[in-house]
Amino acid sequence: MINFEQLAQKYDSPLYIYDAEKIIANYKYFYNAFDVKDLKIHYACKALSNVSILKLFKNMGSGLDCVSIQEVRLGLKAGFKAEDIIYTPNNVGEEEFEHAIKVGVKINVDNIQMLEYLGINHPGLPVCIRINPHLMAGGNSKISVGHIDSKFGISIHQLPLVNRIVKRLNIPVEGLHVHSGSDILDPDIFIKAAELMFAAAREFKDLTYIDFGSGFKVQYKEGGLCTDIQKFGKVFSERFNSFCEELGKDLTLRFEPGKYMVSEAGYFLAKVNVVKQTTACTFLGIDTGFNHLIRPMFYDAYHHIENISNPSGDKKIYTVVGYICETDTFGADRIISEVRKHDLLVFRNAGAYCFSMASNYNSRYRPAEVLVYQRQDYLIRQRETFEDLVKNQVEVDVMAQEESAPVLELKPLPEEVKKM
Ligand SMILES: *Cc1c(COP(=O)(O)O)cnc(C)c1O
Repeated sequence: MINFEQLAQKYDSPLYIYDAEKIIANYKYFYNAFDVKDLKIHYACKALSNVSILKLFKNMGSGLDCVSIQEVRLGLKAGFKAEDIIYTPNNVGEEEFEHAIKVGVKINVDNIQMLEYLGINHPGLPVCIRINPHLMAGGNSKISVGHIDSKFGISIHQLPLVNRIVKRLNIPVEGLHVHSGSDILDPDIFIKAAELMFAAAREFKDLTYIDFGSGFKVQYKEGGLCTDIQKFGKVFSERFNSFCEELGKDLTLRFEPGKYMVSEAGYFLAKVNVVKQTTACTFLGIDTGFNHLIRPMFYDAYHHIENISNPSGDKKIYTVVGYICETDTFGADRIISEVRKHDLLVFRNAGAYCFSMASNYNSRYRPAEVLVYQRQDYLIRQRETFEDLVKNQVEVDVMAQEESAPVLELKPLPEEVKKM
């Protein structure tokens, strides 16, 4: 059990806390659900990209899925071998690809223009091709990325063109990739996508792997639905194995789960600054906002909220809001144990796409991150300071030379304000 009160005392709030053992358990559970000759998991590090989290995955034998060259650099810094990193960018320029090729990561191409460029400028470079299967999948339109209107991947209907380019330029296509979205409830979508991939796979003689991306759904609400990985793994492995048999060679099966690995391992701790009764509801104003956790506002995501300072208090109805000067509602009409000023609230499922989407909006500092492993807590990111906010700003006083510039004499700040 994580002692939230103690961690809040030690590290202050708001605070992100990750349970290493839960991440390890998720990885093992996922890995063991499949029964194939060769399975490789590439943790999609955009979900939570702290280097100490990446090291945890590296030590379990995971690879990485990176969507930017900066994620690639983080992966290399964490100690991943370049060949264990798949670089899957979208709409990036040649320069970034050149950088990725130089460091030796696996290259995943998602448009024809880049395929031609690579074939012409890097003869013999093995690539993976991201296919858009035109299947509608995913929890909402922002995270559905494989449908007909999607900007991702090369259309499955363009395979004849892909083949022509591949043959003309002698491109070794080592992998095929498909990622249809996040929060996919119906695993049949994977099977449908798989059939399309298998049909395409026969065309590429150099193929060594198929990467089925991710999109596995986790439970956000109690009683909420989630992907049954055990069942999926069994059905999917059987189909994959029979395909390999038909093909006459063993391909590596790859997946890129992000959310599944870290969502439930993360907690976000915040303090109640204000309990405000209005004519319509009781607001809990907390010491954070969508600058630190944007999923509820951006995706209408549900994050379970508990009062850990008064867990056995009478249940009441609250609307939990942030301190940003825009409406930033974390949860409306939530039933929570009675809340007093300065109580601590904990948000569940705060591992994936929470810290990694945090910003400095309203010139607030991004929170600290703590990793808990075998009852020990490790600070893995310091809370930002005022210096972090200003360190890249270049102070230019454009009116300084003007004689008419209004001059305001400011008194020096008191010492205690300077420290804030
Ligand atoms: C985001 C992403 C993933 C991870 O998706 P989850 O829903 O977090 O598991 C995997 N692969 C690619 C290419 C992605 O863009």
